[in-house]
Amino acid sequence: MNRLDTPAESFAQGWSPAQSADLYGINAWGDGHYGVGANGDLLVRANGTPDSASVSVMDIVRGMAARGLDMPVVLRIENLLDNSIKGLNEAFAAAIAEEGYNNHYRGVFPIKVNQQCHVIEEIAAFGRRYHHGFEVGSKAELVVALSQLQDHDSLIICNGFKDAEFVELGLYARQIGVDCFFVLETPNELPIVLERSQALGVEPLLGVRIKSAVTVDGHWKEDHSDRSIFGLGTTALLGVVDQLRQAGMLHCLQLMHCHLGSQIPNIRNIRSGVLEACRFYGGLIEEGAPMGYLDLGGGLAVDYEGARTNSTHSMNYRLQEYCVSVVATIRESLDQMEVPHPVIVTESGRATVADSSMLLFNVLDVRDHRPGELPAQLPAECHELLEPLFAVTGLVTLENCQECYNDALYYRDEIRELFRHGQASLRDRALAENIALAVLDQIQGLLKQAERVPPELENLAELLSDIYYGNFSLFQSLPDIWAIDQVFPVMPIHRLDERPEREAIVADITCDRDGKIDSFASVDGPRKTLPLHPLKSGEEYYLGVFLVGAYQETLGDLHNLFGDTNVVSVRINEDGSFHFVREFHGDSIADVLTYVEYNPAIIQEQLRRIAEDAVNAGKISVATRQQMLTAFRASLNGYTYFEQ
Ligand SMILES: *Cc1c(COP(=O)(O)O)cnc(C)c1O
Repeated sequence: MNRLDTPAESFAQGWSPAQSADLYGINAWGDGHYGVGANGDLLVRANGTPDSASVSVMDIVRGMAARGLDMPVVLRIENLLDNSIKGLNEAFAAAIAEEGYNNHYRGVFPIKVNQQCHVIEEIAAFGRRYHHGFEVGSKAELVVALSQLQDHDSLIICNGFKDAEFVELGLYARQIGVDCFFVLETPNELPIVLERSQALGVEPLLGVRIKSAVTVDGHWKEDHSDRSIFGLGTTALLGVVDQLRQAGMLHCLQLMHCHLGSQIPNIRNIRSGVLEACRFYGGLIEEGAPMGYLDLGGGLAVDYEGARTNSTHSMNYRLQEYCVSVVATIRESLDQMEVPHPVIVTESGRATVADSSMLLFNVLDVRDHRPGELPAQLPAECHELLEPLFAVTGLVTLENCQECYNDALYYRDEIRELFRHGQASLRDRALAENIALAVLDQIQGLLKQAERVPPELENLAELLSDIYYGNFSLFQSLPDIWAIDQVFPVMPIHRLDERPEREAIVADITCDRDGKIDSFASVDGPRKTLPLHPLKSGEEYYLGVFLVGAYQETLGDLHNLFGDTNVVSVRINEDGSFHFVREFHGDSIADVLTYVEYNPAIIQEQLRRIAEDAVNAGKISVATRQQMLTAFRASLNGYTYFEQ
């Protein structure tokens, strides 16, 4: 199972596994967790070093197939989740030691980022050694956190709107010794908290969420205007402090929370945000609150492109730099105010779970846009306008390609116009389309060697690219691509020792024109097509979409009634073997029908009646009726995706 990472002699077609690694940027976005085996398989490594145990993703796929887990599958590698938690905690510990900071770090995982039971269980189990806790935004998430956390040195941070029941749950947690903080988001929450805590005779741990005035780059910036839906404005903040003082409860205010947004690509924004948070923190101490915890929320980015820039899908800093910036900024600004160093809390979600999951699927079909073969000469009876169009095919050079492009499209459009008016035949039109396509294809071939591509021809590669139909639903498994144009790394998980000769976009199997991936992560910024291999007959071709562990699973929807996919958790052992820790079978058709309020038993009965009526009407035999009903039953119990 353990294969050498270094490309061996296998240089099929003048192409090496190392070239694939470069082409797909896996060293840039993979954080050392991926490699390419000499046989062209994608390898995943137990930790981010080249000498760590690694397994072929194809071996895992074969193991899944043998266990009846069909594509598409979300594959989680537990080792990668552990590595993220370890990396975050150890980077903060190192920064704290380096900066001579007088307190410690406590991470909390925001459950909304991935609520799946085995993810949360693994975070609780592995995170225990670092006292890693949870951030929750609802009663349901609080119930999850309370049931999973077994370590009383970990924190639970409660954000979101809190009703009396929510508050009671948190107060019971306090009674059994859990450090459960209520972060006040609006002044109206305070009376509920005070009333419930008096009724139960339990003092709450309180935090306040401030509204930062710092704006950040990227897509997910919070609204920082005074109308931002989260947090307390300065007037409201002081109102809460005054209410607490009057109630004799100011000593409960121990935490300040501030969340600048998610996927913050620019480290300078983070520094500004922390600096401002420190001023608020100092201000609250001046007001007489004891404080002790500074919670900086989420925002630590994931470099989806591997580009190391401050563009939306990237980041211009590394984890270590993030931690040092945070710790140093807090130390410097609080030292100036002579305020003791608080416990530093962060709520990193995306950066904790993104890289532990990948979506794998097989390709069902390819529609290529290669021109069909051209005739040696035009048929005698064709339309005369085809002649100048046909002549273009013999004229294309790098120098005149713009002119040939213009001509080809001009004549093609003329023929289309004539066709509309009944003056050209269907065969004329088909021939014109094909000749024009051949010209574009010639031009594209030449442009590959060109130093400069004329702006109008930049889209040609995209125009001529193939469409690979993947066995997945974008809306179910990659909703952020649809919703916010998120970019993820996409690549084949095998055949990486072969040159990928085709350029393609990837479509899903929903019937929605938005169900496609046509922007791909690359170190040079997003690209519009992805180099892929031609399909081989009788052989599956598998693609993976990477870094999908954050936000994708629960935001997904049932478009076209494609349900949850199969999910597999794998652990890589030190000797390079692996085992299936968990496997979950995705929704059956009966499952998704119940989500939209159908009753599968009634549906079966309705189908039985329809079949029986057909027997009575003499349309089918009883034997056919039986076959039909067996097929219906099998469908209801089957996977919602394309089955072999
Ligand atoms: C969503 C959210 C997070 C997680 O942010 P990431 O950027 O994914 O780390 C943390 N805190 C709060 C309050 C959030 O709403």
